[in-house]
Amino acid sequence: MHMNLAEFIIQVEAFNANINILQIRKAHEFSVAAHAGQIRESGEPFVVHCLNVALILAELHLDSTTIAAGLLHDVVEDTNIKLEKVREEFGEEIAELVDGVTKLGMVEFKSAEEQQVEYFRKMLLSMARDIRVILIKLADRLHNMRTLEYLPPKKRKRIASETREVYAPLAHRFGINKVKSELEDLSLKFLMADVYSELAQRIELTKEERESYIQQVVEPISEAMFAAGIKATVSGRAKHIDSIYRKIRYRKVPFDQIADLFAIRVITTTKTECYHALGIIHELWNPVGRKFADYIANPKPNKYQSLHTAIFGPENKVVEIQIRTREMHHVAENGIAAHWLYKEGRQQIDRADQQMLWLRDVLEWQKDMTNPSEFLEYLKVDLFTDDIYVYTPAGEIKHLPAGASALDFAFYIHTEVGLHCSGAKINGRIRPLSTKLQSGDEVEIMTNPHRHPSQDWLTIVSTSNAKSKIRRWLKQAGYDQAVALGRELLERELKKNRFKMPSDEELLEIAQGLSHASISNLFYALGRGQISAQHVAMKIIPEEEEVRESVVEQVLERFRTERGIRVQGLSNMMFRFAGCCQPIPGENIVGYITRGRGVTIHQADCPSIQGLAGDTERIIPVSWDVSRDQTFVVRLQVTVEPRKNVLVDITDAIADNDTNVRGADINISEASTVGVIVIEVKNLSQLERVLKRIRKVKGVISVRRASGSDGMPE
Ligand code: MN
Repeated sequence: MHMNLAEFIIQVEAFNANINILQIRKAHEFSVAAHAGQIRESGEPFVVHCLNVALILAELHLDSTTIAAGLLHDVVEDTNIKLEKVREEFGEEIAELVDGVTKLGMVEFKSAEEQQVEYFRKMLLSMARDIRVILIKLADRLHNMRTLEYLPPKKRKRIASETREVYAPLAHRFGINKVKSELEDLSLKFLMADVYSELAQRIELTKEERESYIQQVVEPISEAMFAAGIKATVSGRAKHIDSIYRKIRYRKVPFDQIADLFAIRVITTTKTECYHALGIIHELWNPVGRKFADYIANPKPNKYQSLHTAIFGPENKVVEIQIRTREMHHVAENGIAAHWLYKEGRQQIDRADQQMLWLRDVLEWQKDMTNPSEFLEYLKVDLFTDDIYVYTPAGEIKHLPAGASALDFAFYIHTEVGLHCSGAKINGRIRPLSTKLQSGDEVEIMTNPHRHPSQDWLTIVSTSNAKSKIRRWLKQAGYDQAVALGRELLERELKKNRFKMPSDEELLEIAQGLSHASISNLFYALGRGQISAQHVAMKIIPEEEEVRESVVEQVLERFRTERGIRVQGLSNMMFRFAGCCQPIPGENIVGYITRGRGVTIHQADCPSIQGLAGDTERIIPVSWDVSRDQTFVVRLQVTVEPRKNVLVDITDAIADNDTNVRGADINISEASTVGVIVIEVKNLSQLERVLKRIRKVKGVISVRRASGSDGMPE
């Protein structure tokens, strides 16, 4: 239908009383003039499309600027008016919006993967600038879908499938339910005409029966609300066709058995009333266990809020009920558009808004993608799958894409939690990290500072976030460790020959002489064992000073076999045990790559390692690899009563456990006797036995591992 300016303004004002009439009027006139003479496939004047797009935007309660841009959205693309002209007439903001929509329109959606990726990238980038671009694009698409029947069949299919694959999920992502449902139904209508019409027919046929059933639920609720003094609107509506179709298709439920062809909605004024209403409903009918979700306390990522419950209604049928306030309902229907309205007056959407956070993540991880199909694969997972919700042990709800594993969840909580994730408890039981989560699961993640990602983790996560974090870690860890080690090896080799590390310029020259583009690349090759330190050292040391047979190498070899440490994936490492914590087998350990002194082995929770938080790339995973007879030195601090023979009794106790005493240093004073005893043990359990035994000695007040600052004999 054609409408004149006055009719148009009246319609827009019905949704938004505060519109800028001058701006809307100017845009309306400009659009009518620009599109004069153009006819759509439907036979209507082209401008009717623009008016309808603007009305859809008004219906989403958007501001005048967006509505005006909606009116103008096709002038640059479909007429010979230049963007400059729009900018001159309507200013920067509207020109930017029109430009964004035009650019999106120019990217053709093709089946070729590369094309799709380019399309998404542009769309995402333009959204990042101003989310209203996508709102206009969605309105544009919605009207095109409403008038799709006028296009040739082949074109219909292409546009309908693009709508289902791209636009409906985007509308969902941004919480614009109203638009999402209609886009899905229209896509189904054109992609599977017979399925659609059959379902529509059956829904129509069962209408009377359903409505009388809905009444049996709505009436008691309304009465109970009235009795409790809650002003609430209670209604029941058939669900949209596409969601019914999906249930039949994917859950293989026959039509007549779909219990939830409809949902009951209770809309209250205040949040407190929502919970009150829930209690009342649960008193009327028994709730279905586990079907309750509190999206008021824990809103969905797209800001949706509501209480969801299901009850055994009349005839014992399961009925889904949603309870929310009017304001929440508005957000549920209009999503980010509603959110935007509440903040009208602001030029840009707050970057911290949740949808924007999602968007920023997408843009962030697309930087890590090495090829377009990888990007697309990830995007599909995040954008096109439904959410599941799981609980943290604290009862917080977290949303994840369906198919996410316990490990995905760990990364979802925090990157650090993911990177050190060592296990998961699902509903209180230990489960593999690869376990796929189900809605309603309670998931607890266990961490361990020595656990790190491995290559196979990539196969058990499905979210883009987790995948890119793991990839980045693997890449970074491998590279950094190798570089640090390479430098270390070269430094050693040079020191042995009484040479110092050359300047960066010299090093670069040497690196390039060995076909490495940078110093780090050279160190990397060294660290990975692709070239030997000797080989590089020979480029630095003048020829007459021949590199001697590596004594250090021999020492290292002995260290390795004697001291029992394995460093993952690395050889030629020199290491020693840190004096501060003196780890022994059975304790968790980490290696720290020092400058020029090899790798120091610390207890994983050693305070001196914790203090190096900013230098974590030097920390490498190591593990014990001890032979049977190896012993380790441990210092004990004992406090005893000044009793005759107490020291003898202690050393006897130690000897009882087949443990050697290497030395002791006891200070006797009047009040007490404090001493340090150095013993040799094989592992932690032997140490614990010894400690237990010492504690039983008469006169011993306390005994513990000595820390770095405690006095040490030797
Ligand atoms: Mn258009």
